[in-house]
Amino acid sequence: MKVCVVGYQGDVEEHIQTLRSLRRRDVVAVRARRLSDLDGCNGIIIPGGESTTIYRLTVESGMYRRIVEMAESGTPVMGTCAGLILISKETFDERVRGMGLLDVKTRRNAYGRQVDSFIREIEIDSIGNFMGVFIRAPIIEDAGSAKVLASEGGRPVMVLQKNVLGMTFHPELTGDTRVHEKFLNMIEGEGYISTGTHGGEGE
Ligand code: GLN
Repeated sequence: MKVCVVGYQGDVEEHIQTLRSLRRRDVVAVRARRLSDLDGCNGIIIPGGESTTIYRLTVESGMYRRIVEMAESGTPVMGTCAGLILISKETFDERVRGMGLLDVKTRRNAYGRQVDSFIREIEIDSIGNFMGVFIRAPIIEDAGSAKVLASEGGRPVMVLQKNVLGMTFHPELTGDTRVHEKFLNMIEGEGYISTGTHGGEGE
């Protein structure tokens, strides 16, 4: 399967390296910069970085619209940090219009200067303890109909809605591949929560 990482800016290489570190012969991780790079992608990752920049460049290349179409026709999409902002329904910032792939409202840079960036152990549904690396992270103000998979400080930090996964932290910076493995499960059609454990999910 081909996993495309939107490759304009931000943690692009880190996502690609995390996927490659799994050493799975059936997984090809590529950097997508042109619209045609999305052809044949079985899964799309929108990385952390600067959401206004990623927004502008994806709109200019046509990737923004294509990602919406692909997600709506079932292609799994994962957005981390700035990537989550892009796939949200509401961003409260017209420089980053949300794709509306997740029924969530996110607010950019909402932790404020004092707690700009921090690392905190979080507990993720079906994964367990995970190192949450938060860098100028957005806050999910309202998770809407999305299923909350992890919370921190009483707020959702990871959500799932059908084929779309979003988180405010950076799993690609931890050396821990479990979140990416869940995303590969989704691409393989097993869903985030593999069949045989909890059954259905995120509906
Ligand atoms: N603060 C960034 C933004 O709003 C997101 C930060 C990140 O992706 N680490 O674009």
